[in-house]
Amino acid sequence: MTGEMPLPVRDDLAGLHPYGAPQLDVPVRLNTNENPYPPGDRLRRAIGEAVAEVAGTLNRYPDRDALELRKDLAGYLGHGLTPAQVWAANGSNEIIQQLLQAFGGPGRCALGFEPSYSMHPLISRVTATRWIAGRRDEAFGLGAEATVRQVRETRPDVVFLTSPNNPTGTAIPLGVIEAVCDEAPGMVIVDEAYAEFAGAGTRSALTLLPRRPRLVVTRTMSKAFAMAGARVGYLAASEDVISVLLTVRLPYHLSAVTQAVARAALQHAAEPLASVAAIRAERDALVSWLRGRGLIVAGSDANFVLFGVLPDRHAVWQGLLDRGVLIRETGPEGWLRVTVGTPAEVAAFRAALEEVLS
Ligand SMILES: *Cc1c(COP(=O)(O)O)cnc(C)c1O
Repeated sequence: MTGEMPLPVRDDLAGLHPYGAPQLDVPVRLNTNENPYPPGDRLRRAIGEAVAEVAGTLNRYPDRDALELRKDLAGYLGHGLTPAQVWAANGSNEIIQQLLQAFGGPGRCALGFEPSYSMHPLISRVTATRWIAGRRDEAFGLGAEATVRQVRETRPDVVFLTSPNNPTGTAIPLGVIEAVCDEAPGMVIVDEAYAEFAGAGTRSALTLLPRRPRLVVTRTMSKAFAMAGARVGYLAASEDVISVLLTVRLPYHLSAVTQAVARAALQHAAEPLASVAAIRAERDALVSWLRGRGLIVAGSDANFVLFGVLPDRHAVWQGLLDRGVLIRETGPEGWLRVTVGTPAEVAAFRAALEEVLS
């Protein structure tokens, strides 16, 4: 294409890179925080039947408002939520995009506390929302005072709080979320993609919703629910928030197949969620093992662990990959993130890491 004019892309997208977690065909894939346990026989059969049933209606557009699915999601979330307070989309990434289309955009800004989920700044930029990189403390935590101060100084239209946070695994105390809600002039989005993995004592930001009309809690079926391939994310918020989102969503955004699969999975929720306890126990054992090897590990309430500090993290990442174990090169320089897999996968990771570090 030499000599031709460059494509007339928006100036503000210059230098932007696509989301790029490598999708490599290796034996042990511990890089995108999926649940390692595939759906079992019963759930597979239920999904097959649900899809077969909907297949006969695919000449028609799906329910635009996904009412039945939202009813099921409200039931799953509990906390007295009604279907009108719940909204669903193709992964929580689309949920976040819709939120930024509605509440961010040109002339507006969003604040997040880094290191955190890389899609928050990326979707912000794509929706022409200016991104403000806030800071965490040394242990990747967020104290009320420092967090509120950053909100006060930047006056963001949207605040992202990720709890438990990706890639650090750290949860945010509810008191900090409340303090941010009190200070924030705009919307507060609590990304709870990993909520199901948090310790039993951790209270969800869902408990704050009744008194907070500008608070949004996002969830996903991609992680604990073991449905990453189905692309289903959702949120809970005030009815007014959802009325606004209806104006930015594309008509029929959530396919009839997706809605049917999600509903079947919710009906059998106990099955995928039964793996959560095992994954938590495996995570805690992995944290102890890594610390025993002299590594620094962030306290994790999620299904992954961030560890460091490595003088050459890329070499360690590559060494693991050479041994068939794919993890994620993310977080601050010197740190790596590993997803908690099955016991066999974690054992393979430990053996490979021993070799690479020795
Ligand atoms: C994985 C993840 C998501 C999930 O995205 P989906 O589009 O629902 O698959 C959302 N937020 C965070 C922080 C994540 O790590």
